[in-house]
Amino acid sequence: MTDRYAVVGNPVEHSRSPTIHALFAEQTGQVLRYERLLAPLDGFETCLRAFAAAGAKGCNITVPFKFDAFELCSHRTERAQLGGAVNTLRFDADGWTGDNTDGAGLVNDIQKNTGRPLAGLQVLLVGAGGASAGALGALIAAGPARITVVNRTLDKAQALVASHAHLGVPLTAATLAEAPAAQDIVINATSTSLSGAAAPVGAHVLKPGALALDMMYGPKAQAFLDWAASHGAEPRDGLGMLVEQAAEAFFFWRGVRPDTAPVLKALRATL
Ligand code: NDP
Repeated sequence: MTDRYAVVGNPVEHSRSPTIHALFAEQTGQVLRYERLLAPLDGFETCLRAFAAAGAKGCNITVPFKFDAFELCSHRTERAQLGGAVNTLRFDADGWTGDNTDGAGLVNDIQKNTGRPLAGLQVLLVGAGGASAGALGALIAAGPARITVVNRTLDKAQALVASHAHLGVPLTAATLAEAPAAQDIVINATSTSLSGAAAPVGAHVLKPGALALDMMYGPKAQAFLDWAASHGAEPRDGLGMLVEQAAEAFFFWRGVRPDTAPVLKALRATL
């Protein structure tokens, strides 16, 4: 039987993951099938158990189930544990293992694809939801000089910073209005782009030539990208992060690391 995988979410029809994993499989000669699975908002666990019982090997988890997936795992990788959320599940013989590849995806995109080593830089992470929680550990591991987490709800930024404070890099939590000036890298991990808004922080956060990355991709990211470019920053959307996190998941399942560059190029051509 062909090995089966899926992306499970609600909504899920917009997901590019089936295309990405089909391209990875073709490139690496792996034989697998990757589909979309729409889980009812009140039926995530039932949906997942049915998929695993049908012989599937694993799945990606997307909005809004990453925290539920974390609870359902019998084993979790260190990075999933740290972020408290799971975006990749592997159905092993001795239980489900949960991983979180979002942070590695983000860091790989920044360091490998834009050629900016994070070490020694001032990083501003805007947002303290699931995406930020998944990303912060990997950002810290890359060794920036400081990371400031700003959020509309200050409590959430403070909680996120507190849960990562033992990792060694100076971390600060603040409100959106208190966002520091002249940052080397600004990452928008809020969902504000969903409504076509530009950036939830002022342009003073951008050092000239800064990298300004929105985790969103497609037409909805355009307002943020225009805002960044008009203030002298290098704009970047979340498509590279998406492909890189998928490559990490592919490796987690198959033990094979695909080349992401041609896949990102092919995907960008379809936007
Ligand atoms: P969550 O719902 O968990 O968090 C949303 C965040 O956005 C919170 O910090 C929230 O602040 C903030 N926010 C929402 N509305 C506003 C507003 N009007 N003004 C200011 N802040 C606001 O979402 P996720 O963290 O899961 O996802 C965030 C984004 O990242 C989404 O756009 C998602 O598509 C993208 N993403 C992209 C990935 C990729 O591979 N490219 C991977 C994962 C996510 P508050 O706490 O105050 O509510």
